[in-house]
This record gives sequence, C-alpha cells and structure tokens, in this order.
Amino acid sequence: MPIDTSTRVVTLLGQPVAHSLSPRIHNAAFRAQGLDYVYVAASVDAADLAAAVAGLRALRYAGANVTIPHKQVVRPLLDAVTERAAAVGAVNTIVAEEAGGRVRLRGDNTDGLGFLQPLRPHASRLRDAEVVVLGAGGAARAVVYALLTSYAPARLTLAARTPSKAEALADAMAPYDAHGALAVCPLEEAGPRVRAACLLVNATPVGMHPDVGATPWPDAAGLGPGQLVYDLVYAPRETRLLREGAARGATPIGGLEMLIGQAAAAYEQWTGRSMPLDAVRAVLDEG
Ligand code: NAP
Repeated sequence: MPIDTSTRVVTLLGQPVAHSLSPRIHNAAFRAQGLDYVYVAASVDAADLAAAVAGLRALRYAGANVTIPHKQVVRPLLDAVTERAAAVGAVNTIVAEEAGGRVRLRGDNTDGLGFLQPLRPHASRLRDAEVVVLGAGGAARAVVYALLTSYAPARLTLAARTPSKAEALADAMAPYDAHGALAVCPLEEAGPRVRAACLLVNATPVGMHPDVGATPWPDAAGLGPGQLVYDLVYAPRETRLLREGAARGATPIGGLEMLIGQAAAAYEQWTGRSMPLDAVRAVLDEG
C-alpha cells in the first residue's frame, strides 16, 4: 500500500520512543490487512505536549498512543476519556473522531485489556482466587483495575517496597473493590500470600533488560504447580522470575502478550478491524 494523500497517520507520543515496539506491531498489522494507515513515533518534550495534541487535531491524525512521561498529564488536553482510563488515571490511546467538521479526541487505557488477554484460558480458576501484585506504579494500577472488574478475586494483595504507594493505590481502587479483596503488605512480608496465590503478577521493572539476572521475587521456592506467574516485563521475553516459576511447575506468562493485547485494543478503535495477531507475532519474532 503506497503512502499517499489518503494515508491515515497514527503516532506514538512519548519520550524516549526509540525502543518502542509499537511502530513495528502496528505497521505489520496495517500491511497484513492492506490498510492505508501508517504508524510513526514522535519524541515529545513535556513542554510541547499540548502543541503535539493540538497537532493531532490540526493534522487530522487517526489517533495516537501515549507513553511515559505523558500518560497522566495528557488527560485534560482531550475531549473525553473512557471510564477505564479515568479509573486508571492514565491514557495510553487517543482516538480521533470527526463530527460536523470538528475533531474530537477520546482517551482510553487499553493496558488492562491487554493484561487480561493471556489470562482468558485460565478464567475459571481465577474467579474468587487469591492474587498478588508486586509493585504499585502505573502498570499495577491498570492490572488491579482489570482484575477487580473482571474476576472479583477473593483477595488481591499489593506487595510493594514502598507500602504507602500501595496504600494510595488501594484507596484509589476501593470504588471497584466490591468484595473488600484489596490488601497491602510490604514486599518482604508477602511470602505467605505469594505461596497461597493462584496468580502472581510482577508489575515492577525488576528483571528487565539489561538487568536480566534480577528478580522481584527471589524466594522462588514458594512457587509451584497450579500457580500462574505473570511478568509484565517483556524484554527479555523469558525473565528470571518466569524461568524460576516454570522450573517449579508454575505456568509462566510473559509481558509480550499484554503488549500485543493493548496494541490490538487500540488498533481496533483506530481501524474498526481486529488486529491480525499472527502477522504481528511473526514480525516480533524476527527480533
Ligand atoms: P512505574 O510506574 O515506575 O512503577 C514501578 C513500580 O515498581 C513501583 O511500585 C516501584 O516501587 C516498583 N519498583 C521499581 N524498582 C523496584 C525494585 N528494585 N524492587 C521493588 N520494587 C521496585 O512503572 P510502570 O509503568 O508501572 O511499569 C512497571 C513495569 O511494567 C515496567 O517494566 C514496564 O515495562 C512494564 N509494563 C509492561 C507492559 C506490557 O504491555 N507488557 C505495560 C506497562 C508496563 P517504588 O514506587 O518504591 O519506586
């Protein structure tokens, strides 16, 4: 498909953006479906974010992804945000809609949808189950919202090295915690909860390239069969946490599927099409 006057543009707004996989993911999908779209990436200074968002309107882009450090601050620049983006307090996707010659920008957060995607085959054992989330940052927020609103876990423990941040996250998520599942504990006291957990989620960057020898949960002896160990880190694809969990019989889930899942949920809103996942996985497998 040639890039010409009718090509629709989607951009990533962030800083840095050089290592983002999003252009590869989306351009592979556009190509596979013969869609006249192109995905680019823009390194945007915080001081220029408002101008960049105004540019989306003026240039009539189809939409955008938003990443660090703009995910929270972009919200007031948009016309509306979805309920899940409001709950999570961050926007990772902007969808431009034209009505009456005016462009309306809607912010969404698709991280939670992406997170839930690889859990689908395990849905029956996750309902009413015990879950532990390591970390209390932006990704943990999307994960906790997704888990509370989709699975109503019996207990959802936030284990963080800074418990005050986990407390703040639990307070923010209280409106979605119909069954009083949320609990907070310091990371070093989470052993009993991790051993009892059906699902352990790493929502910290520990273990990420280049620090691949690190793990957020060094006490891997507590992991075992019947457990799902889900690492949001996707570089490397197999982290030390996943490797040690699998060696003890747990089912490992890597962060790449979440990354693809959040991209698919955005792609669908920009194009009205389901993302061709095989084409996307193939391009990511090329390395
Ligand atoms: P963030 O907002 O900076 O939060 C990071 C969290 O990890 C904080 O709670 C932080 O604790 C904790 N943490 C950092 N270093 C730690 C350490 N050495 N030991 C214990 N806890 C530590 O980051 P984020 O946006 O939530 O991202 C977290 C990870 O998820 C990153 O690796 C990111 O790449 C990944 N992620 C993946 C996807 C995906 O699609 N697969 C999507 C989003 C994020 P403090 O508050 O005490 O610093």
